Amino acid sequence: MRPEALNPLFAEVQTLEGVGPKLMKPLEKLGLTRVKDLAYHLPERFVSRRAVADLDSASEGEQVIIALNAIEHRAPRAGSRGPYRVLAQDTKGNVCSLTWFGRAAYSAKKLVPVGETRWVAGRLDRYGDMLQIVHPDHIEEASAAHMGRLSEPVYRLSEGLTQPRIADFVEQALARLPELPEWIEPGQLARSGWPTWAAALRLAHEGTEPKAHDRLAYDELLANSLALLLVKAEGRRRRGAALVGDGALRARLQLPFALTGAQARSIAEIEGDMAQEAPMLRLLQGDVGAGKTVVALNAMLIAVEAGKQAALLAPTEILARQHFETLRKMLGPTGVEIALLTGRAKGRERESILMGLLNGSIQMLVGTHAIFQDTVNYRDLGLVVIDEQHRFGVAQRLALAAKGRRAPHTLAMTATPIPRSLTLAQYGEMDVSRLDELPPGRQAIETLVIPQARMEEMVAGVERHLASGQQAYWVCPMVREIDGVPDLADIAAAEARYAALKERFGDAVVLVHGQLRPEMKDAAMERFVSGEARLLIATTVIEVGVDVPNATLMVIEQAERFGLAQLHQLRGRVGRGSLKSRCVLLRGDALSEMGKARLALMRETQDGFRIAEEDLALRGGGELLGTRQSGEAGFRIADLEQTQRLLETAHADARLLMERDGGLTSPRGEAARILLYLFERDWGVQLLRGG
Ligand code: ADP
Ligand code: MG
Repeated sequence: MRPEALNPLFAEVQTLEGVGPKLMKPLEKLGLTRVKDLAYHLPERFVSRRAVADLDSASEGEQVIIALNAIEHRAPRAGSRGPYRVLAQDTKGNVCSLTWFGRAAYSAKKLVPVGETRWVAGRLDRYGDMLQIVHPDHIEEASAAHMGRLSEPVYRLSEGLTQPRIADFVEQALARLPELPEWIEPGQLARSGWPTWAAALRLAHEGTEPKAHDRLAYDELLANSLALLLVKAEGRRRRGAALVGDGALRARLQLPFALTGAQARSIAEIEGDMAQEAPMLRLLQGDVGAGKTVVALNAMLIAVEAGKQAALLAPTEILARQHFETLRKMLGPTGVEIALLTGRAKGRERESILMGLLNGSIQMLVGTHAIFQDTVNYRDLGLVVIDEQHRFGVAQRLALAAKGRRAPHTLAMTATPIPRSLTLAQYGEMDVSRLDELPPGRQAIETLVIPQARMEEMVAGVERHLASGQQAYWVCPMVREIDGVPDLADIAAAEARYAALKERFGDAVVLVHGQLRPEMKDAAMERFVSGEARLLIATTVIEVGVDVPNATLMVIEQAERFGLAQLHQLRGRVGRGSLKSRCVLLRGDALSEMGKARLALMRETQDGFRIAEEDLALRGGGELLGTRQSGEAGFRIADLEQTQRLLETAHADARLLMERDGGLTSPRGEAARILLYLFERDWGVQLLRGG
């Protein structure tokens, strides 16, 4: 149950004065549904204004507060799209125009009647010969209290909201802040000189007081770390089984290559973890093509040698299939029983897999999230491997962990290159193995950046490439989502490109995108993997894992729209065999300096970790963690700089609290529970109650 002290904060926004049904939508769009959301809706920036006596003492571009007397209204001519202007003069008779465009003009008439004086706040600009203030921020009869405020917050808005409106709601929310007990460790609080929680929130809406912002960011990081630690503690409480394999199965593997040093080291680390009763919680980080699969296979074989089952969870159907095929081939000489379970297995087939899992005849399972539905029960699940960890939430991780009679060991794998400084935020307390060495003999992928305008040339290049007997990928962006639905314009663009290339290359072309029915998607993929189709047009569904060594050319349209991490992963689809590979980034004409720098970085290096670090430096990496995939580490308050500066201390503070009071029952523990609710990480608290 949510602590009572939080009730005023969790009240719906409708309980605020002035929030009616009409404003609910725009507020909801900003994610502001409860009073606390408004309190945490921090200003994007502040404008500082200067009160000026007359227009002569103000300069263009300046934010001013000035008393003006309206002399004339000029409405736009009927049918014209011109602005609505109110001409007004200062005490010296200098004239300036208050200007409104579009629907905003309706309110203007009433706000400044001819002959009356008003206090106007806004940015002074010039339009031709005339000084003007476009869409004044405030117009007041008298110099009301907040007109006198010279530094003023600017909030993120959505259609239907105005700055004064939202400022008013925020003010009401702040007036309702309860006194909450302190969750930050007293020593830390004293050292940093931070204000209390309520004071920090108020200050953060008033100005750019770094201490206030730092405190709030720290709170968020602390909540995140605590929640991750609670998950870990839960795993520890449920103890696992110590798994020691005799090596018999591993000895029968006939790999066509020798393991790299990094692979051998990672396997040894995993083997060490699995031999402990405490369940393993290890992250295997390795760039695309670093060879994570064979590491996973070794871990799974250890579990089977120890008489347990192992499951591998893949993020998509296509990847599950590919993993299944790869593992089955490698397992050939070992005699291990492996099965594939996806959402599409139905009837008899599904029944027999479920039976095999329950009686233990199936030793390894590969699949999508279907493998942890309630109806799937294992005889004795000893290890779970999760590929592309970032796509799965903590809740799913927990659901899986609850499957076995004892908590299974968990190995998470990711190719998403995350800078070191952010690993802790995303993966918390996981132990990390890094595959920082690629298998030998990999060829560098030549990367080119060319303007989209040279499309015809590009198509001719693809034609020559296909004629040489090799295959190619052609990727169209599907980056945008509107309210969680892929942008139809992007789908249309991919389909149009497909139609155009099909005209040129005929049946050699296949199309794959997320909106296709799974059967069609798989049929297309299979034709490409078998080599029957030569050119695969795709949206980012091919992003992870697909392995076709004969595909040696990757064309990416509108490359500037992709995140660098995504581009890096896409590029990793080629260069998988011994043939020389190329990646062509087609770019739009109007590219910012930043955009150019980002694409240049792609051309310069193939080191995913370096790309991640530099992208972080270039643009402050919202997208590092993936545009939409920011998932668990997506902070709302803490920015990247703060995350890097404060995370370690917050994490240490969280760990200390957990060591002293793992059940969160001390006064500070109770306060920490409140914090977890505030940042919607109360799944951490739920775990406690389950005990
Ligand atoms: P990842 O999942 O890390 O992107 P994969 O496990 O799919 O990479 O491996 C990429 C390719 O490299 C596969 O074709 C695999 O057989 C091969 N490979 C893996 N390890 C080695 C190695 N030590 N030496 C040579 N090739 C390897
Ligand atoms: Mg892989």
